[in-house]
Amino acid sequence: MKPDFPVSTLRPGREGLELEGVPLATIAERFGTPTYVYSRKALEDGYAAWQSALARRRALVCYAVKANSNLGVLSAFARLGAGFDIVSGGELARVLAAGGDAAKVVFSGVGKSTDEMRQALEAGIRCFNVESEAEIDRLDAVAGELGKRAPMALRVNPDVDPKTHPYISTGLRNNKFGVAFERARTLYRHAASRPNLRVSGIACHIGSQLLDPAPMAEAAEKVLGLVEQLAADGIRLDHIDLGGGLGIRYRDENPPAVADYLAPLLRVFEGRSEELCFEPGRSLVGNAGLLLTRIEYLKPGEERNFAVVDAAMNDLARPALYDAYHEVVAVAPQAGSERTYEIVGPICESGDFLARDRQLAVAPGDLLALLSAGAYGMAMSSNYNTRPRAAEVMVDGDAVHLVRQRETVASLFALESPLP
Ligand SMILES: *Cc1c(COP(=O)(O)O)cnc(C)c1O
Repeated sequence: MKPDFPVSTLRPGREGLELEGVPLATIAERFGTPTYVYSRKALEDGYAAWQSALARRRALVCYAVKANSNLGVLSAFARLGAGFDIVSGGELARVLAAGGDAAKVVFSGVGKSTDEMRQALEAGIRCFNVESEAEIDRLDAVAGELGKRAPMALRVNPDVDPKTHPYISTGLRNNKFGVAFERARTLYRHAASRPNLRVSGIACHIGSQLLDPAPMAEAAEKVLGLVEQLAADGIRLDHIDLGGGLGIRYRDENPPAVADYLAPLLRVFEGRSEELCFEPGRSLVGNAGLLLTRIEYLKPGEERNFAVVDAAMNDLARPALYDAYHEVVAVAPQAGSERTYEIVGPICESGDFLARDRQLAVAPGDLLALLSAGAYGMAMSSNYNTRPRAAEVMVDGDAVHLVRQRETVASLFALESPLP
């Protein structure tokens, strides 16, 4: 067995793999499969790495809720004093339900509705990250109706290439996010003239699964240049939000440690008093979770052997969507020789695969763990094929908390009705 898993709290034990010392086999027995399993220690260690790297400056870490919005996960971060980056009113409701502090919430996204703005203003969030001129005007109007001043930052598009997957790069000129750099000064002046807005910061987010700190440092330089121009225009900002995007190891990637990723950024802003905000999602939760699934059938073939498991693309969409790689390990490998398998689910789509060409020594009924599934796993799941969503559990030392019950089939169509 490989000693060094991307999920840091996963270890081989006497009864097979254990997370924080709890056997995955015990979890499967107790909660069934497929089940997402998270490690509280891994979440907390991840957050602590950000905190310690930022210890010597005014900074706020806002966990990007969209990566994993389970209340158990959110409450773990809330108790550590984290801020939150949200992209919908629904995510705001989750943060509040989990005990998060509205005053540490930043609201991103290109399509905030009037209702979402109202909800966030009433909750008293820290900042709206505004992405267009039309949104500036809408936010001003909504704040005016409520007799409030809305704190805002403009999300600018620094046009740097993050060298990542095209679907998850967001900071290039030709995509829908943020406003063009050249437009930013004009829009800031416009925002500063609106009576119901308080211009408080600037934001950028260049992409996801970044493995090289250089593009982020380049974006930071550009943002700083803009901050200085704005100061010359009489617009003083209180915070600079550098977004999320730090990558994790899925296979053989070698992402920088948080401190190494942040060091060049901190150098860019050395001696400045603005608060620095970050919005990490994947890097906080990705390797704090795995998807536990059971092999239903082994299906040997002429060209390929299939392992048909009880999880599918509706549970973990990343392989089908981005051709993403998740390490697959047998919880308790069989004695005997490995064979090469495609790991597929029961869904009626050829695209329903979880992994290709994996060497495993397994038998029907065995458990597999798909690693690095804590981010954009459950959060992107669906009920395709009327499949109830997986349960979610959080291992917390000796305890295992059920943080989301497995859905029932009846609940899936509870909101529907046959024709009268
Ligand atoms: C998705 C997103 C994040 C989080 O990205 P990760 O790659 O998960 O760190 C942060 N900020 C914004 C604006 C986002 O859209």
